[in-house]
Amino acid sequence: MGNEEKQSLLRKLPQVDELLRAEVGSELQREYPRRIVVEAIQKVLDDIRKKILSSSSLPSEEILEAPYLSERIREQTRTLNRRNLRPLINATGVILHTNLGRALLAEEAWEDLSIIATSYCNLEFDLAQGVRGNRYSHVEELLCRLTGAESAVVVNNNAGAVLLTLNTLARGKEVVVSRGELVEIGGSFRIPEVMRGSGALLVEVGTTNKTHLKDYQKVISEKTGLLLKVHRSNFQMIGFTSEVGLPELVELGREKGIPVMEDLGSGCLIELSPFGLPGEPTVSEVVKSGVEVVSFSGDKLLGGPQAGIILGRKETLERIKANPIHRALRIDKLTLTALESTLRLYLDQETVLRKIPALRLLTTPLDAVHQRAKRLLRRLKKKFSSHFEIEVVDTLSQVGGGTLPQANIPSKALALKPIGFSVEELDRRLRGADLPVIGRLNEDRLLLDIRTVQDTELKSVEKTLESTLYQTTKK
Ligand SMILES: *Cc1c(COP(=O)(O)O)cnc(C)c1O
Repeated sequence: MGNEEKQSLLRKLPQVDELLRAEVGSELQREYPRRIVVEAIQKVLDDIRKKILSSSSLPSEEILEAPYLSERIREQTRTLNRRNLRPLINATGVILHTNLGRALLAEEAWEDLSIIATSYCNLEFDLAQGVRGNRYSHVEELLCRLTGAESAVVVNNNAGAVLLTLNTLARGKEVVVSRGELVEIGGSFRIPEVMRGSGALLVEVGTTNKTHLKDYQKVISEKTGLLLKVHRSNFQMIGFTSEVGLPELVELGREKGIPVMEDLGSGCLIELSPFGLPGEPTVSEVVKSGVEVVSFSGDKLLGGPQAGIILGRKETLERIKANPIHRALRIDKLTLTALESTLRLYLDQETVLRKIPALRLLTTPLDAVHQRAKRLLRRLKKKFSSHFEIEVVDTLSQVGGGTLPQANIPSKALALKPIGFSVEELDRRLRGADLPVIGRLNEDRLLLDIRTVQDTELKSVEKTLESTLYQTTKK
């Protein structure tokens, strides 16, 4: 195609102003900010210009006509106006998915949150005395009551909790850690690096698979500031292995006058073994073992907001509270209120499993998941049987968030095999939808694990799938 023809086509393109005044422009400006509409028009015109210049054959004049332009501009405006951070449906079966926001808050926490967020509150005001209060007082007593700890501190996340504790107790001193526990947790939390950042010196002991008490004994000197035990969280060791248990380590620390800390990672407040999950020590058990300090996340198995919780002996926690880094890692009132509500739910052991979503999803019986999967199957089969082969299959869910990697939780998934387009394309379209659905690719099928899909979301899965078909017919 000649350059002249292209230029003449380009000259026929309407101006931004014209389109703003046209029906599509004025209609969109009633609903969306003008800036967004202008940007959308510019983008659509730009794309068309590029298309004309780069194609070898002359694109049809249709692309300059009102119906085509209007539709593209509407679509583009909607896309630009879409929030960046938005909800989606987690059909991966990973309950505490770090990339998908980890723990869901309980309804109760959400209700309290919306009230505190929009009113003044006694964040740092002692209502009884009428003087300045302490923001952590709202959760400290609760944490102590639930775990048996003497004292508690809360910071931004568990990485911060570990950093702050190491910095307070062991800056310029040596911290002894087993080589089997030098973990990296998702999102670049690595023990050796956190250690360096805290100003403490890492002393590794033992080997990757075996560490004995004598390995710790050998390196302890007047330079030792802390014995640190790190929960392996996201991996397990099998075969020829041994490690020193927390009670033995505490005993050694007591003998030598050196504090012992455990970075517990997930930190579960209730026994999970009755639900067929691997027995993990609960936070109370760790506290009872006599550790100086234990830390864990607020948004892993605890099922609350992102936070790092530090429990331990009073004098030690007083030192941690007095560290200026503590101020830099402080939590805001929203986190605080969500944490308080979540902790309060643990006061009723009868209902806590039902009310905290992470625990509810984890302990939903397989049969209930199966029923939900079958319900969705019926809905989808009715509508989409000419577009997908669909069946319910067995699968395994995971806890995620670096928690209980050995727990394979039996679950049910809907396996979707698209007819006439690839499974990768299906996955891409589901991710691109207004309410995205995130599944798991398995050869030529997409698995939607129903354990992490809530009852109220089944309709949305159906709607999102429908929107992918609309995209199909349009291409
Ligand atoms: C998850 C985890 C962390 C990091 O906790 P965040 O709350 O994500 O900062 C640290 N240590 C262990 C052992 C963990 O499992």
